[in-house]
Amino acid sequence: MATIKISKNNLYHNLNQLALKSGSKNKIAAVLKDNAYGHGIELMAKLVSEWGIEQAVVMNNLEAAKIEKLFKNTLVLNDTITNNPRVSYAITEINTLKNAPKGAKLELKVDTGMHRNGILMSELKEALNIIKANGLNLYGVFTHYRSADEFTSEFAWQKANFEQVKSIVKEAGIENVRFHSHNSASLLRCKEFNEDLARVGIAMYGYNELPTPLEQVELKPILSLWANRTSSRELKAGQRVGYGGDFIAPRDMIISTYDVGYGDGLFRGNSKKPLITKEGLPILGRASMDFISIESTKEELCIFDNAKEVSKHFNTISYEITTNLKSEIKREVVE
Ligand SMILES: *Cc1c(COP(=O)(O)O)cnc(C)c1O
Repeated sequence: MATIKISKNNLYHNLNQLALKSGSKNKIAAVLKDNAYGHGIELMAKLVSEWGIEQAVVMNNLEAAKIEKLFKNTLVLNDTITNNPRVSYAITEINTLKNAPKGAKLELKVDTGMHRNGILMSELKEALNIIKANGLNLYGVFTHYRSADEFTSEFAWQKANFEQVKSIVKEAGIENVRFHSHNSASLLRCKEFNEDLARVGIAMYGYNELPTPLEQVELKPILSLWANRTSSRELKAGQRVGYGGDFIAPRDMIISTYDVGYGDGLFRGNSKKPLITKEGLPILGRASMDFISIESTKEELCIFDNAKEVSKHFNTISYEITTNLKSEIKREVVE
């Protein structure tokens, strides 16, 4: 069976680096949405809470239900609002706010420039009035940067917009609200972190997606994908392997199939430009749904331990490589 191994030491290394940036482990919210970017939500929630993380961020109620007991608060980014003292809800447009239940913990997402979700800055005063008039429980106010991982001035004006948001909320006399705007990239590039929380995803998993002039903090990927040998055979020179026979043996060779494929979420790619596994061995021919062929007889092979390298091969980003891995794959914590 294919296995995903999660390195506890690397995770704790990354969390330490992030806590140095934020000034405190209490200020880090672990972003565990989408099955913890494919790492396994329950396992990751357990590991980070054991380390001392008290805040989490997920996409929906189903994810929150799996982990909320381990955290002081879990922010749900997109689902029906429920009245749960351990769960807060992102409000992404003003109409939702108008119908929000009293008592539920609400976090206003303000659109400071990304134009994807969030109430407009021009609607902020109206939103605060609704909160006061309806006696709603405003727990947080936050935003999300569109270009935190680009080496441009984009980040600066959006940050300035969020400073303005903070002033408006404070002027409205609403107190005990937590403010947060940073994701991994913006926390890593930030010189003086002064907010209540940073919502950290990809950096915790060990990837720094910042362009080189901004890259400083060393992070260690925590996930590796392993596969086991299913069967071996000898190929005579000229014999072909797999669907379409795309790989032609240049010489007599011993190959084995390993039990991972695109059904597990490993990208199928182009057999003319094969993925080279961790041990330097190319995938031979086309990847199947559940199997790949490799010139090895080892019982267990590491397919990759760095999703960023793999993402370059497939012309995407590290996020997509790990998030694509199916939840059914066995997960194991290693040191
Ligand atoms: C996914 C997400 C994050 C985490 O982003 P990373 O780049 O992985 O750190 C933070 N905030 C919001 C609103 C998100 O949707």
